[in-house]
Amino acid sequence: MKLLLHACCGPCSLEPTRLLKAAGHDITIYYANSNIHPAEEYEHRLATLRAWAADAGFEVLEGPYDPATWEACAGRIGDAAIAEIEQARAKAGVKGECAGEREGEIDGTNEASSNRCKTVTDTNHGASAPDGASLFASATGSVAPRAAVLSVDPARREARCRACYRLRLEETARVAAERGFEGIGTTLSVSPYQYTQVIREEVERAATQAGVAPVFEDFRPYYDEATRESRELGMYRQNFCGCRISDLEAAAERAERKEQRAAAKAAERAAHADERAAEEAARAAHKAERAAYDKKQARKRAILKALREQGK
Ligand code: SF4
Repeated sequence: MKLLLHACCGPCSLEPTRLLKAAGHDITIYYANSNIHPAEEYEHRLATLRAWAADAGFEVLEGPYDPATWEACAGRIGDAAIAEIEQARAKAGVKGECAGEREGEIDGTNEASSNRCKTVTDTNHGASAPDGASLFASATGSVAPRAAVLSVDPARREARCRACYRLRLEETARVAAERGFEGIGTTLSVSPYQYTQVIREEVERAATQAGVAPVFEDFRPYYDEATRESRELGMYRQNFCGCRISDLEAAAERAERKEQRAAAKAAERAAHADERAAEEAARAAHKAERAAYDKKQARKRAILKALREQGK
């Protein structure tokens, strides 16, 4: 099949292209990733993909880079989820304003809700956080309260990612139909960190809408091999999914793991403190005993010496 394969990055393309090519598909890669933040990261991943694809013999087409559209759908959902947590924290359990978005509102058509969320979002991206919560910045400069980033309801995160997949896969399907491709697929399903079933649904939805065939495969069993191979090839391997919120999540999780390791070490030190004190006391007692013995011996020697001198 003449297949337009959406690719999120180089490392994730290695195994899906191998398998799809072996299955007889004629693959063109489509890099449609308006989710990636910042633009330098987008370019870096694209350059990595292009360099590998040139060697592997795959054509790479680039979609429009349109972060504003990503912000208007997935970004808005992600911000609203974080803001909701912050509001709940600040108001001691009172429900956040954006709770109405919980049920699958991912297309930005609910203007009233969208405006509410914008207000909530704006308050959350200012210079200070509600209730004195400490702000947390990732390496690329995204900022949010760390506790809120880590407490987002998994369903809200899934809704954000679904919107993100939808944006990219609809774009892929549209271009596929325009350019005479027979089907679309994606490399996203190689990652165990993605929502595989949601990707399947969005591939099928986008393909059906555009009148092309969906080619979905769960490539997760090949993730380890893709990791090994990409390392061997010296490819750039990013440590976050792509959007500014995933960057914050990854950085927050790393920071939390670091703190947990430090706390575990401190607890271990504290747990062995008595043991160490007992060892120290035993060492001191042994030293004192030795000093007393040495003193006694010195006294004995002095007496013997005096007796020897008297007998002369
Ligand atoms: S975590 Fe990944 S899939 Fe989810 S919204 Fe961010 S970039 Fe998109």
